[in-house]
Amino acid sequence: MDITEKQQALLRMLPGVDYILELSKADSFFDNIPKSVLVGATRSVVEGFRTDIINDRQGITETKLSDPVILEEIKNSVKKAMTSNLKRMVNATGIIVHTNLGRSLLAKDAVENLLTIASRYSNLEFDLSKGMRGSRYSIVEEILCEISGAEAAMVVNNNAGAVFLCLETLSKDKKVIVSRGELVEIGGSFRIPDVMEKSGAILKEVGTTNRTHFHDYEKAIEHDTGLLLKVHKSNYSIVGFSTEVSLEELVGLGGTYQIPVMEDLGSGTFVDFSKYGLLKEPTVQESVAAGVDVVTFSGDKLLGGPQAGIIVGKNDWIGKIKKNPITRALRIDKLTLAALESTLRHYRNIDREIDSIPTLRMITLPFGHTETRAKELAELLENTGDSRMSVHLVDLFSRPGGGAFPLLKLPSKGVGVKVQGISANAVEKEMRSNEIPIIGRIEEDCFIMDLRTIQDDELPIIKKAFDNMLRKV
Ligand SMILES: *Cc1c(COP(=O)(O)O)cnc(C)c1O
Repeated sequence: MDITEKQQALLRMLPGVDYILELSKADSFFDNIPKSVLVGATRSVVEGFRTDIINDRQGITETKLSDPVILEEIKNSVKKAMTSNLKRMVNATGIIVHTNLGRSLLAKDAVENLLTIASRYSNLEFDLSKGMRGSRYSIVEEILCEISGAEAAMVVNNNAGAVFLCLETLSKDKKVIVSRGELVEIGGSFRIPDVMEKSGAILKEVGTTNRTHFHDYEKAIEHDTGLLLKVHKSNYSIVGFSTEVSLEELVGLGGTYQIPVMEDLGSGTFVDFSKYGLLKEPTVQESVAAGVDVVTFSGDKLLGGPQAGIIVGKNDWIGKIKKNPITRALRIDKLTLAALESTLRHYRNIDREIDSIPTLRMITLPFGHTETRAKELAELLENTGDSRMSVHLVDLFSRPGGGAFPLLKLPSKGVGVKVQGISANAVEKEMRSNEIPIIGRIEEDCFIMDLRTIQDDELPIIKKAFDNMLRKV
């Protein structure tokens, strides 16, 4: 592609880094900006203009390349570089435990406890009654046993780590029998067969995708079978002509052949959701009562706490797991422990405290509540006084997410927005690039926000984002 003389003239106008560094000295905005940031911003802005000129993009004129205009662009780029990469967002997707958006929001007291423990010394590994070294695991072990009914408990960094650690401890170099219907991929490349292989356990699949019978497990047992494993199907469901062996039956089989039984519940919960008119998810207490040797589940899915992998079960096995040197590599940190302990304390009285745990509050939020708030938001947005905006209420379904309740849809109310002259995709992009990004969905060329996952104090943020957008376009 030939470059015209006009393009060459424009390219010659582009400033060098040294020139900008000199120029910036006269502007107090740059006083406390690290040089590396300024240099990086300058290079990317100049490079952007260079590309635009070469591609003969419309609108690149001599005035567009004047010092003040370029400096303004550099300021915007610097501002971006100086803000945190990890930012708060508004989740308007209606997916409550959204792994990409940080899964669970912590309970208020969990946040407070986390702040205190983060900024003060603590008895993380110090036994206050004996005045000597203690174990970090003891901080939540008692309460986990109290809530779940298990003999012992242990916590690690996340549930993938918990599954790996248990398999490595219970069944390294031994065969692990799993139903074909439970060889799941959770997402983010966590696949049960792969984790098993890395742990040194040998996978022995039994049954078929839709049906696995008791005798399939029994027939597969050999002298080197180390574990019977049950995996909660989490993010999908097999309906229709299907059979699976219950945990009780597996525990019975394990007992007969002296083989331990493990269950990976994935999104473990202590709450019987059928009490709230929802579908029932298996609870941790039920697994423990069934006599399983170890159960693993996540801290930040349905439990509504921080990222953690929780293991509860029989004394002997938990004891062995604690002694496995790999625990050190999967160690839970003190901030997580602080938040986890506070979260767990709510479960002593969960019927009354369910609203204290945001994940549970959002799951059990009545439809009427989402409707009231949808009306509030619609009214706020209508009040922008801009005739290009059209706002309406929509009926939709929220989802628990996090690999729980694959079939459950929660009826919810949302607000749909159309803006004359702007496509839904463009609105979505504007909302996503807001200072506090707002993530919604697009349906039938309309930007839609589900009120179930929008927090009460976030309505003004959305209103402001739309105001800003309308001012720009
Ligand atoms: C989510 C999930 C995991 C992984 O848990 P993380 O907390 O993401 O590490 C493992 N197994 C099952 C069945 C799951 O649903």
